[in-house]
Amino acid sequence: MTEKADATQENTGKQSRKPLVAGNWKMHGQKEQIQEVLAIRDALMAMPNRPKADVMICPPATLLMVMAELIDKSVIAFGGQDCHAFEKGPHTGDISAAMLKDAGASAVIVGHSERREDHGETDDLVQKKAMATHNAGLASIICVGETKGQRQYDLTLDVINRQLEGSVPPESTPQNTIIAYEPVWAIGTGLVPTLDDIATVHANIRETLEKRFPEHAAGMRILYGGSVKPGNAGQLMKVENVDGALVGGASLKADDFMKIINVYGSDKKTPPPDPKQSVK
Ligand code: PEP
Repeated sequence: MTEKADATQENTGKQSRKPLVAGNWKMHGQKEQIQEVLAIRDALMAMPNRPKADVMICPPATLLMVMAELIDKSVIAFGGQDCHAFEKGPHTGDISAAMLKDAGASAVIVGHSERREDHGETDDLVQKKAMATHNAGLASIICVGETKGQRQYDLTLDVINRQLEGSVPPESTPQNTIIAYEPVWAIGTGLVPTLDDIATVHANIRETLEKRFPEHAAGMRILYGGSVKPGNAGQLMKVENVDGALVGGASLKADDFMKIINVYGSDKKTPPPDPKQSVK
């Protein structure tokens, strides 16, 4: 790793597991979508104190640099949605983690189920991509999750443990690695697991991480993703071991995304950044 990856926080132990609300815009948004991120920025800056959660947007790569230049990353951090496993080279159409960092990203989503499905990405490739993000000094948001059929056959925990084993690099730390549990059948469908099911999977993820990373697992954030909306975020974010959300559809509208961030409230101890410093 070339430098400390900081997906927005200095996260070292269980008590300091600051929640993260990250928006995955997927293949949505042209220039006019910049208005939404400016509206999110303005709403965050208008809060009397800093939100208790870190906030991140992972826009299409075409919008990343312009957004990162407009907005200070202490207010909204930016992430890529994927990267190549190599730093550079003859890979037409691909983007490296170093390029995303250069554009202003602090993290990269890797192993999203849509990439696993659309591009046949294996756990091994996802791990290489996660290592590439770490080597570039970025954090990886590594997605895992079962399909509907796997859940029906009671294979959920087996599938997730296999994905964790195969996709999470050995040098992972709370600073460079965030796990996102995203049941494939819940993404974009309006369906969500029961709170008990989410608690079971998140506890299993924490336990599996503890076996492999005894010193680091307690500090690693585990996000829930899959149809998180303003109406259900309050309940979902209270589940034990849920350290925030990876939000697709509901992150495209500033009002909806702010309602999800606001579930965490604001931290009275930390005033918002000086607007003159934060708005370039
Ligand atoms: C996602 O794609 O990461 C996601 C969770 O999508 P949605 O919130 O739309 O289900």
